[in-house]
Amino acid sequence: MKEDYYDILGVSKGASDSEIKKAYRKMALKYHPDKNPDDKDAEAKFKQAAEAYEVLSNPDKRARYDQFGHQAFDGAGGFGGGSMNMDDIFSQFGDIFGGAFGGGGFSGFGGGGRQRVVKGSNLRIRVKLTIEEIANGVEKKIKVKRKVQAPGTTYKTCGTCNGSGQVTRITNTILGRMQTSSPCQSCGGAGQTIDKKPADADANGLKVAEETVSVKIPAGVVDGMQLKVTGKGNDAPGNGIAGDLLVAIQEEEHTTLKREGDNLHYDLYVSLPDAVLGTSKEIDTVTGKVRIKIEPGVQSGKILRLRGKGIPSINGYGKGDLLVHVNVWTPKTLSKKQKDFFESMREDEHFEPKPESSDKSFFEKVKDMFS
Ligand SMILES: [Zn+2]
Repeated sequence: MKEDYYDILGVSKGASDSEIKKAYRKMALKYHPDKNPDDKDAEAKFKQAAEAYEVLSNPDKRARYDQFGHQAFDGAGGFGGGSMNMDDIFSQFGDIFGGAFGGGGFSGFGGGGRQRVVKGSNLRIRVKLTIEEIANGVEKKIKVKRKVQAPGTTYKTCGTCNGSGQVTRITNTILGRMQTSSPCQSCGGAGQTIDKKPADADANGLKVAEETVSVKIPAGVVDGMQLKVTGKGNDAPGNGIAGDLLVAIQEEEHTTLKREGDNLHYDLYVSLPDAVLGTSKEIDTVTGKVRIKIEPGVQSGKILRLRGKGIPSINGYGKGDLLVHVNVWTPKTLSKKQKDFFESMREDEHFEPKPESSDKSFFEKVKDMFS
């Protein structure tokens, strides 16, 4: 069992952003590898705290974690969140320690103070999905302009760091004097600098190329969610590793189906005679049109529940329902003949409302829906 993120940082579920930040700062200082050399236990705790902070400091991730727990991040599709490497953790520090451990900050390489693999920058794109695509899952081919290594670029060992990629120095930090290593400014930590490059390459030997990336989107994603495609961001120079492509989900509005969590709602309008006599009606679902039966004497406001016709849960647990709301449509204008017809009906006591227990009020139905 993975430990609760709030427990790891020792804060309550309702902790404010600044409380979370403060708690993390305390943990990170205590278990920092520079203070605990060769202590595997401290390193594990340090990583654990960083992971908890990464989730709880992000309002979107925190909300998902509060709702789904750890499952929010280990399901299908490879959502970001879990399993950070030291690289990610040190890049978090710029924000929280104001660069006390960081340093560097070479363009496109991120800051940090330890031996590291140079990573290319991440790319962010947005993908629009219909309700049908979200319900069924979809594979999208997305055109991405990413920086790739320009063919013909050659490298040589960096003269400043002699290929180690880092320079060591003594720094005064909030913890006192510390020996820190930071990425070499000349080569950005790569240990190599460019020897020769083609004319169309930038200073890092990279050039922009358009690539079609295939992104598998699992069923049940939510507007605003972010999927990570590892290695499809910008390439890093030399023998570094490419950044990631972060795909933000945007849900398109449907003309007739409205989403609420995993459930869908559909407004069905029936005529007065259809409501009285009963009928069958074709409605939209995420898997195409379906014909449903309307019993004679249906009441306006009745909700017909089509089980499992909603959106599958992102965590793979079941599916939502499609709720069809019956609205009896009343004409606003009538001919003389139609008016006479309704006048005669009005005189008939049979048409006086006599609600039965099955004709539950709107409020009772709402209560049922959420119970
Ligand atoms: Zn260097």
